[in-house]
Amino acid sequence: MESEKTMEWTSLEEKWRKIWYAEKEFESDPNAKKKFFVTVAYPYPNSPQHIGHGRTYTLADVHARFMRMLGYNVLFPMGFHYTGTPILGMARRVQENDKDLIAAFRTLYKVPEENIREFSEPVKIADYFHQEIKAGMIEMGYSIDWRREFTTIDPVYNKFIEWQFRKLKEKGLVIQGTHPVGWCPKDQNPVSQHDTLGDVEPSFTEYTVIKFRNDKHVLPTATLRPETIFGVTNLWVNPNINYEIVKVDNEEWIISPECSTKLEFLNKKITKTGTILGKELVGKKVKVPGRDDEVLILPATFVKSENGTGVVMSVPAHAPFDYQALEDLKKESSKYPTLPSLSSIKPISIISTEGYGEIPAKDIVEKFGIQDQSNPKLEDATKELYAKEFYGGKLKQNTGKFAQKVVSEAKEEVKKWILESKNADILYELNESPVRCRCGAECVVKLLDNQWFLNYSDPAWKEQAHSWINEMKILPEEIRNEFNHVVDWLRERACARQHGLGTKLPWDKNWIIESLSDSVIYMAYYIIAKYVNSKEIDAEKINDSFFDYVFLEEKDQKKLSHIKINPEILENIKNEFQYYYPVDSRHSGRDLVPNHLTFFIFNHLAIFPRKDWPQEIVVNGSVLMEGKKMSKSMGNIIPLRDAIKIHGADSIRLAILISAELLQDADFNQEAVRGIKNKLENMLSDCTKFKDGKSSSLEQEDKWIKSRLQQLISNTTSSMQKMRLREALHYVLYEFDSDLQWYTKRAEAKGRKDYSGILHEIFSARVAMISPFAPHVAEEMWSLLGKKELASKSPWPTPKDEQIDMQSIQSENLLKTTLEDIKNIIKVTKIVPKKITIYVSAQWKVKAYQKILSKVLGGEMNIGALIKSLISDKETEEIKKDPDFVKKTVNDILSESQEQRESKNKVGLINEKNILSELESLVKSEFGIGIQIFSESDQNKYDPKNKAKTARPFKPAILIE
Ligand SMILES: [Zn+2]
Repeated sequence: MESEKTMEWTSLEEKWRKIWYAEKEFESDPNAKKKFFVTVAYPYPNSPQHIGHGRTYTLADVHARFMRMLGYNVLFPMGFHYTGTPILGMARRVQENDKDLIAAFRTLYKVPEENIREFSEPVKIADYFHQEIKAGMIEMGYSIDWRREFTTIDPVYNKFIEWQFRKLKEKGLVIQGTHPVGWCPKDQNPVSQHDTLGDVEPSFTEYTVIKFRNDKHVLPTATLRPETIFGVTNLWVNPNINYEIVKVDNEEWIISPECSTKLEFLNKKITKTGTILGKELVGKKVKVPGRDDEVLILPATFVKSENGTGVVMSVPAHAPFDYQALEDLKKESSKYPTLPSLSSIKPISIISTEGYGEIPAKDIVEKFGIQDQSNPKLEDATKELYAKEFYGGKLKQNTGKFAQKVVSEAKEEVKKWILESKNADILYELNESPVRCRCGAECVVKLLDNQWFLNYSDPAWKEQAHSWINEMKILPEEIRNEFNHVVDWLRERACARQHGLGTKLPWDKNWIIESLSDSVIYMAYYIIAKYVNSKEIDAEKINDSFFDYVFLEEKDQKKLSHIKINPEILENIKNEFQYYYPVDSRHSGRDLVPNHLTFFIFNHLAIFPRKDWPQEIVVNGSVLMEGKKMSKSMGNIIPLRDAIKIHGADSIRLAILISAELLQDADFNQEAVRGIKNKLENMLSDCTKFKDGKSSSLEQEDKWIKSRLQQLISNTTSSMQKMRLREALHYVLYEFDSDLQWYTKRAEAKGRKDYSGILHEIFSARVAMISPFAPHVAEEMWSLLGKKELASKSPWPTPKDEQIDMQSIQSENLLKTTLEDIKNIIKVTKIVPKKITIYVSAQWKVKAYQKILSKVLGGEMNIGALIKSLISDKETEEIKKDPDFVKKTVNDILSESQEQRESKNKVGLINEKNILSELESLVKSEFGIGIQIFSESDQNKYDPKNKAKTARPFKPAILIE
């Protein structure tokens, strides 16, 4: 426990929030200013927010506050997502008296008993956590316009979603059909990321099942490479698997038990008629489809019951696993005395690829140093070879009508050919199995018959999405390709469920629109919600014509005649929508890239005109707790409101933002929060010390700190614009601090009393810039500085480049580095200094430095050439005496940033002797002695150690005795 008495954060923060709300600070209505509409994915109220949720909302709030200070009319609203199965699942667990869940409600989330009792009803759970999350958002100081709040089960929202779906259906984007989906067999519902434990998207891959036949049975094999059928030399079965014989649509298949389950969900009629051990299949023969020969069934242990059908076709020339298994088997053929000789089984090469020999699988197995089929490197070898052959391989003459085709094309053609000849089928496999539903059941891929799908496979829609993704702003830039990738793999998506809260499908009321389909264009609804909440409109009077007019500016009078809203209110709503749309920035966590954020783009493009398409997406990574992933089982989930009680909202906001830029994982740790709290408390106490006022004349250090102020404003602003908030915070908190420390040291050494006005000016800008991050304490600081308006209403400081005095920045740097050097010499030599002598370089060196600098900036770095040109000039011909100077100077210059080089070049000659005289007071206050300064060229200088000649520009020689 912390023993020191800390500031009363809770009451301070509450005080300022009351003032914001009393002044309706965050309520935004259309006005003459430019608007900025920022939204963040609305929360799912099935538990309170924890620190991890705080990141996305805090980022969006800082963005909103920054844009407000830049003069925009910012709208930052919030809604609550009740739709879907997670809340339903939770209610069911309460009904079943799930002890873990109820204990979590009691101890972790501190839900009162009377509320827990009502939680068997899903809506009560949603309502409770809705209020809990909202209270937390208010306590965090989020600048939300709460007049626009709604839930996704509000009657007007239902009408809005019905309108969305009728629009999509009109455009042919909602289709009825039979498509594979991720599925929970227990709930009998499609599943998506929201519904799975660990929030895994249940993505899957389509395999071609090729049927190998003998007189009685079909041995099906699942493959991603149907084109390799021409290279099959044998089949593999695992001798230890107890295979099932099942009747599948009038054929008898031999498959693993797992495969039999998978097929049931793909709408196959399955009847089990018997079993057979893998061992018993070994040595039998099957016919290869499309070829008239037979191949042997052989044993291999790499064959897994849960993968594919449990039977594998062997293509040893092109599949590393097959090649290795065949080699292994040849070595131990004595184990299978009944098998015919294996020496006649030779790999059949069917693809030629540059860089590989006749048997590519052999090449790559040897390259990876693989000795047997249990080697895990076989996976990598397979991937590498597949990629090479897919993009660069060509089919050989022995592939009949497919000869000469490239693999990437032939793959689809061969697949079509075998399917048409009834020698193949389709199987879907989850990419990461097992995926578990929130109810605990293992998910499968189900072929959903005659269902409603959003047709994300539509090529024109995909094309449009790609082109907008490439045009819109996406932060950080590196995430843009991830979006394009998602658009590529997305396919038909089941958009309705049989259970859960939400909106009924308007043309088929047995279905409820699912949670990732009713949450894609709701940003438009924030405009409507204000009028619903003020009771100016209600569900009874809302119909499609209303939405057509407000959102799409429908002009057809016949359609408009159906609108039942008061015309004046209707105009206001339409104008308000037209003012705020499009969304200027959408914030969300990275986990929503493969679903919500991509659907958000797709649906806006389908429904709204181009001028209303989203302008920007900002994506952030997750939050770790003391370096560890947050999870219930780790016991390290801290509810946000608990953390606010302990640390205060501002410190939490800063601690989350300062540890990482957008995509990195942020780390929330106690030490960082404490450090930040201290920093803010110190800043607050500093603000009591400075009074507004002008100082009579500016000293060197005054010019410097005023220039630095402009540089810091400029740097911070540019970081904010790129949403590089960590960087921005570092400028505001730490760079300011180190500059202020130097400045006060300089002023105090001179015994000055007249710089309070300058510090007041610096702090005014600094507090304004910290206000989006730590809005509560910034208001307190702002008022201590004597400001009348609110900090959140003050303008963001504008960088004034013309006020940057580069010469004073160079001069102060020289003072700092020289003082540093003196301290270092004293530290290393352990001398108690009695006398300090400083030598600045001779005038010819200063001139030579200038010339070298301008040559280096022009790209000339050849030492010989530099020396030659310096000698040829009268002003610098003395270089002859010290040619080494050139090399050292070039190194001095190269050790600095390009920015510093250019600034030195621009400033030109500076009088080091004059500048260094400012050291007098500093050295006196630090070491209690004076200094002497000479130029290298002074005739009567004191130079017992012959040091002066080592002086270089910006690197004076120092003698300490
Ligand atoms: Zn389930």
